[in-house]
Amino acid sequence: MKIYDEVIIGGGICGIMAAKRLMDNDENRKVAIIEKGRELTKRKCPASDTQACLHCGICSITSGLAGAGAFSDGKFNLGTAYGGTLGEELGENLANTYINEVDKILKEFAEDYPELYRSNDELKLKCVQNNLTLLDMNVRHLGTDKNFKTMYNIIDSIRNSGVDIFSETTCKKIKRDGELFHINCNNNVYAARKIIIATGRTGAGFVEKFCHDFGVKLNANAVDIGVRVEMKDIIWKEFSSRIYEPKILYKTKTFEDKCRMFCFNQGGYVSAENNDGVITANGHSFAQAEKKSDNCNFAILSSIKFTEPFNQPTKYATNIAEDMNMIGAGNVVVQRFGDLIRGRRTTESRLAKNTVIPTLKATAGDISMVMPYRHMNNIIETIYALDNVAPGTANDDTLLYGCENKYYSIRPQFINDKFEVADGVYILGDGSGICRGLSQSGAMGLYAADCICGKVKQ
Ligand SMILES: Cc1cc2nc3c(=O)[nH]c(=O)nc-3n(C[C@H](O)[C@H](O)[C@H](O)COP(=O)(O)OP(=O)(O)OC[C@H]3O[C@@H](n4cnc5c(N)ncnc54)[C@H](O)[C@@H]3O)c2cc1C
Repeated sequence: MKIYDEVIIGGGICGIMAAKRLMDNDENRKVAIIEKGRELTKRKCPASDTQACLHCGICSITSGLAGAGAFSDGKFNLGTAYGGTLGEELGENLANTYINEVDKILKEFAEDYPELYRSNDELKLKCVQNNLTLLDMNVRHLGTDKNFKTMYNIIDSIRNSGVDIFSETTCKKIKRDGELFHINCNNNVYAARKIIIATGRTGAGFVEKFCHDFGVKLNANAVDIGVRVEMKDIIWKEFSSRIYEPKILYKTKTFEDKCRMFCFNQGGYVSAENNDGVITANGHSFAQAEKKSDNCNFAILSSIKFTEPFNQPTKYATNIAEDMNMIGAGNVVVQRFGDLIRGRRTTESRLAKNTVIPTLKATAGDISMVMPYRHMNNIIETIYALDNVAPGTANDDTLLYGCENKYYSIRPQFINDKFEVADGVYILGDGSGICRGLSQSGAMGLYAADCICGKVKQ
């Protein structure tokens, strides 16, 4: 059996950046990536033809080489203001050093690298005057197609540098045997001296199980519950044309909870994603003008951090999504904002007359049948608050897709600042509960690889 220096479980941006950096640091290393989804070019979501989720066993949107980011909008946030807490973990300077290195690598492999969208004081002021906080960061927008090609080029290069990549290979269990780890997969067993677990959000259950097996303590994290919102693109044009991606925070009046607008897609499409059989909403957009829709979409998420004794926030969020799927006949539910406010369901006939044409085929229904009152109220208040800076957001024909949840609630306890949870085991990226986006996940992969090779940048 070939013994690897490092086996990386998960072929998303975190795993790919870690593999690249390990090989760049030492070309003789033996490194493998194990990925449960398909090769990048074989990933195809059937919903792109049918517009409805077909509940594939392994979701092509979230799994496969290049990870959950493969068909994403390719927005790279060059800073730490959002997208995770890497700044708190590493210190702002070091986190930014590694985020900028991700940017440098993407530039090297992209065929045409876009300019930065910079933050804008005028829009910031407009938000502050309306009790909203515009989060401030420079953003590079590759778009779905350029992002895909760039990731393809990086994967090709690490494969050529000697990294063994095993796609359609699911890691089931890890066992320690003296100095080695045995990584048991659906089709083979691999051996390694060190392992990097970079299994993303879809691998949350895997991380939980691993931590249980290895006695690693898990800390509860916040969980976000919300909806994907879709409306005419022109409503947010003032923002999107100047800063590309408005990310806005609102403290709700009734509960004083944190609600945020994020993951904005100009000219975009709402998409469904399958998280281990639970279908939730998301969104993306293409960079090319001819592939744009007439709509924009973004998430509104209500954040909640549970206190003792409750410690199963992921289950709480999953239950809500499952119930939404139940009333949506196995699909995401779509509702007009006007119907929600009038306390009635959206029907197919009301939807057919809507001026905003849905870009995802979802089940017309009533989100408020499932969404807990506190989150529903937070979402409605946030829509009205956003309407003050982008009038039209609270139009009757605005569509809400339920639900969109973010499951980064488990957070393993690390034994050091290299993100090791046990000797020789690193948990990184979105699956660590620290990252929530492409640049921080990629940066964490680079940083841990440098730690392994004793070459951390300062
Ligand atoms: C539709 C969509 C749009 C997005 N848009 C953006 C955006 O524009 N900008 C941004 O910053 N972020 C965006 N995100 C979030 C971003 O994609 C993630 O933050 C990022 O991909 C996390 O990288 P990762 O490598 O940690 O995990 P992932 O990319 O999730 O990769 C983890 C990989 O591990 C694999 N895996 C899981 N369990 C196992 C197992 N047991 N065995 C083997 N393999 C396993 C999975 O199949 C997956 O491919 C988007 C996400 C989605 C779904």
